Amino acid sequence: AAKVKNKLEGVWRLSKLGVPVGDDPGKDSLGISEGLLQAIAKVIEFPVASMLPEEAFSVVRKSFDARKILKEAKFVYTVDLDVKTLLELEPRAHDFIFRLEPKLGLVEHLSPEKTVSGDLISVVNECRRVNGDASEPRIINGNGDPHQHGGGGRSKPRIAVVGGGPSGLFASLVLAEFGADVTLIERGQAVEERGRDIGALVVRKILDMESNFCFGEGGAGTWSDGKLVTRIGKNSATVLAVLKTLVRFGAPDNILVNGKPHLGTDKLVPLLRNFRHYLQSAGVNIKFGTRVDDLLVEDSRVVGVRVSDSADQLQSSSKDLKFDAVVLAVGHSARDTYEMLLSRNVELTPKDFAVGLRVEHPQELINSIQYSDLASEVRKGRGKVPVADYKVVQYVNEKDEELSQSSYKRSCYSFCMCPGGQVVLTSTNPNELCINGMSFSRRSSKWANAALVVTVSAKDFDLLNLSGPLAGIEFQREFERRAAIMGGGNFTVPVQRVTDFLQSKLSETPLPPSSYRLGVKSGNLHELFPAHITDSLRQSLSMFEKELPGFISEEALLHGVETRTSSPVRIPRSNETYESTSLKGLYPVGEGAGYAGGIVSAAVDGMFSGFAVAKSFDLFEGTI
Ligand code: FAD
Repeated sequence: AAKVKNKLEGVWRLSKLGVPVGDDPGKDSLGISEGLLQAIAKVIEFPVASMLPEEAFSVVRKSFDARKILKEAKFVYTVDLDVKTLLELEPRAHDFIFRLEPKLGLVEHLSPEKTVSGDLISVVNECRRVNGDASEPRIINGNGDPHQHGGGGRSKPRIAVVGGGPSGLFASLVLAEFGADVTLIERGQAVEERGRDIGALVVRKILDMESNFCFGEGGAGTWSDGKLVTRIGKNSATVLAVLKTLVRFGAPDNILVNGKPHLGTDKLVPLLRNFRHYLQSAGVNIKFGTRVDDLLVEDSRVVGVRVSDSADQLQSSSKDLKFDAVVLAVGHSARDTYEMLLSRNVELTPKDFAVGLRVEHPQELINSIQYSDLASEVRKGRGKVPVADYKVVQYVNEKDEELSQSSYKRSCYSFCMCPGGQVVLTSTNPNELCINGMSFSRRSSKWANAALVVTVSAKDFDLLNLSGPLAGIEFQREFERRAAIMGGGNFTVPVQRVTDFLQSKLSETPLPPSSYRLGVKSGNLHELFPAHITDSLRQSLSMFEKELPGFISEEALLHGVETRTSSPVRIPRSNETYESTSLKGLYPVGEGAGYAGGIVSAAVDGMFSGFAVAKSFDLFEGTI
């Protein structure tokens, strides 16, 4: 009896509901259309779809599937069915729900806790309620030693969060919600001023080394495509908590449902402003234009940081600030910070990453490769179907003599694809040239770009006689310098047609147009990397062509160089406490520490580190 009652209560999750494009209102609609009701009726075997009340259903996820193996392109939905509402509005559905059985991957009966998950602020508050509210923090100092500040009495632990990218912002948010005294230190500027600095870079070619596409409020992910896809499980409670927090700060709520959520720079900038205002109202002291140059260490423990005004080249403004713990969320472009950590004997280990080139096609070409006849439905992001993207992952056999002894397989893949976007400069030093991609929310530019990269590891660094923990960084630098020289300076990017790259030929002008605004120049990109890497990139292009016929095209232009795909270094830390294994009081987090790759995973890592630090300072008890 309990089983039957259970079936007639709660929520059923219906997945893989396909609606042909012709029967769907299009990518921007997240409502319950007639076409969707038809698909639902089929799954629950209800004979008249139009009798199903829309109010009983909510869309949990909507994706677009135009794979060539399908007879026709379709939108694919996951929908929650609220049994109580359904039976109230359409009692005749009773027998159909009564007969409904869970089917693997198609129909699932949800337990109540699976359907609730709030934003991070409510998660922390719930945690404080369940685990014991420590609104009056008791003991600080990670060892559990009572430690007092400011002349006696209980005081809040003072935590520095270094870096205002996704990981630093989410760590600050959690810690502030738990009642810590948080100072967020960011070498770059707030988004308003950062926007002007980026404008000066793009229009007048003036690079501010502290406020640019990598450094400043929101971190590397601000002037980006704002893709919110992650490999860490889009339906997991933690990812949902992060996405709901973004919605709270102004992201459109379709990111909770869209199968490939993305924001675009125009949505990210106001969101970050709201995030900042919230943190400030929660008591976080935010210091922009302030760079951490050193750690203050006493008795093998971090007790603070040395900071300077980041515009002050001579560091004459340098000051010491005392803290009980330092969360290090500096991203993977803070090369000076890695050097400082090394000088402080913090353990750093080299990590595999990927390098290559950024390839750009006309967006229309990618639309027609991916969608064939449906390509006309894209209409610069305003049409029924999303602007087409692609993702290719392959393995290539290594042919190079020195590396081929054990039939070495190197993975090659497209990375950070920006449909309707543009190629941007991500250098943090005028002598080094590296690029990435960004877009606006509509993805309406006429170009599609993506990194085309292959993995590199210690074997590759060895070939350039590079060793030690920072070998990967030196490897990146080497090719960024070569690219700057090949471009001829002034941030001009060397480019080559894909067809010429395959034939080792300098591209003749006129070159296909590029979205990169600071200027391009024909260059021998096939000579930039060591021969075995160039060979792997060529093999991968041929494999891409098999999956996406038309990819190798006269109109496809390669740009050099893509080096900052993920961190070349890891800063080892405890899995449980998130504390560095080599220096007490230091909490390395996010992409720069080697524990995340992308906006959402960095935010999730920041969030967990916030919980771990809060716990070590006894700001809450029990489990998360
Ligand atoms: P970061 O975002 O790098 O933030 C680190 C912050 O620390 C920076 O703001 C920096 O100024 C600051 N800092 C560094 N050193 C110091 C110091 N010594 N003192 C004080 N402050 C310091 N990912 C996606 O998931 N989707 C995308 O669409 C996407 N597009 C991208 C486009 C571009 C152009 C770029 C560059 C990256 C893109 N990424 C994207 C990657 C994504 O931005 C990163 O994975 C993510 O931002 C990492 O977050 P983080 O907090 O670990 O580090």
